[in-house]
Amino acid sequence: MGLLVKCGDDGYSTPMTNEAKSVSFFTQGCRLNIAETAALSQQFESAGYSVTDNKVPGDIVVVNTCTVTENGDSDMKRIVRRVVRQNKEAKIALIGCVAQIQKEALLKLPNVMWVVGNGEKMSLASIIQKSSTNVPQVIAPKMTQSTFVQEHSAIDPGHTRGNLKIQDGCNFYCSFCVIPFARGPARSRQFDDLMRDAESMVASGHRELVLTGVNIGTYEDGSHTFVSVLRALNSLDGLDRIRISSIEPTTIDDAVIEMMANPDSKVCAHLHIPIQSGHDDTLSAMRRKYSLAEFDSFVTDAAKRVPHLGLGTDVIVGFPGETDAHFEHTYQYLASRPFSYFHVFSYSDRKNTIASKMVDKRVPSVVIRERSAMLRDLSKRKRDEYMIGRIGDSVNVLFEQCKSNEWFGTTEDYMRVKVADVTENLKNKIIPVQLLDRQGNGTILSL
Ligand code: SF4
Repeated sequence: MGLLVKCGDDGYSTPMTNEAKSVSFFTQGCRLNIAETAALSQQFESAGYSVTDNKVPGDIVVVNTCTVTENGDSDMKRIVRRVVRQNKEAKIALIGCVAQIQKEALLKLPNVMWVVGNGEKMSLASIIQKSSTNVPQVIAPKMTQSTFVQEHSAIDPGHTRGNLKIQDGCNFYCSFCVIPFARGPARSRQFDDLMRDAESMVASGHRELVLTGVNIGTYEDGSHTFVSVLRALNSLDGLDRIRISSIEPTTIDDAVIEMMANPDSKVCAHLHIPIQSGHDDTLSAMRRKYSLAEFDSFVTDAAKRVPHLGLGTDVIVGFPGETDAHFEHTYQYLASRPFSYFHVFSYSDRKNTIASKMVDKRVPSVVIRERSAMLRDLSKRKRDEYMIGRIGDSVNVLFEQCKSNEWFGTTEDYMRVKVADVTENLKNKIIPVQLLDRQGNGTILSL
């Protein structure tokens, strides 16, 4: 058992007792981890550390880990090995989901000094400042259900779109998912705290805020719901766009679709709703909370009401017991509906989940590979069809990045677009452009 450190509230503002050090960050996995790393980076800066690019590992290296698939675990080990190769003296903090699940086992990895789970990771600077010995620490207590505040903002100076964390954890316990174990029970960020953060993110230049969390539709702080968060942000001066990241289909209030359909609202016409499977047998074995007919009725209604809705989804391939017929049903369903893209995940066993015990129903890995390839191909075709269908339209683009005189940005319905041969600085500008053609990963536009 490692040491358990209780962190005070004063850790960020008090002067450091040790010499100022550098810190670098690696972020694995989801948008929520990205938002948390951005806030941690601000926290370390306030505590006097210099934050360095992760190409050159700092004195302290923080890896914000992901355990959604096996790849997350192996990528984390690869990062640790690389860091140690580049800087033998680096002290490594493994934080987040893998830390929460694997705890002491991670101390076997070289140079790992801190293993901090999701409940305590947002106090990392304070934890590190208070470590006075070379004894490695494991801090990963069970998480509670209470609301939370996040003292440091996720302002990310390099980016025009900011990730606003509003929620954490999940109580749904889908049978394949490790997240309720790794992230703990559903809990919401205090409304005033998230609004304060939203204001400072907008004041620092973010024109679009992406609402992030594990199961954001379940947001609840007193009388504040997910819809009240949207309404409050909609009235925030200086904010141009609100984007909803992945959201569970059964948690979407009709008022959300109403706002999306209203051209005067700031809520982007973009929904990412995980379907996971297009067959009721699999959905039921996954313990999802809807039938295919219910999912379909929601999607059809939303697509009818919201003009040019960018509709994305996640699908898992090879869930235990998925037959050829189940897969075929999923494929045909996805092919026939107005999805503009989907993310395909090969099923992988995660410890503690109900699905990991369905050993007699495993789908052979070669079959999983074939099915995944088919769906990825279909997703590419759907993406093309969607974008080609938009050619000729005039759309607003928030420009983010320039590479050799080509500017890249994002539309409200989540298409990545580019404008060639521009010498003007378009960063953080929202400009109407006309879509001309589909090309590679982007669409060529004219101003
Ligand atoms: S809703 Fe299901 S898949 Fe999503 S985080 Fe919760 S348990 Fe996991």
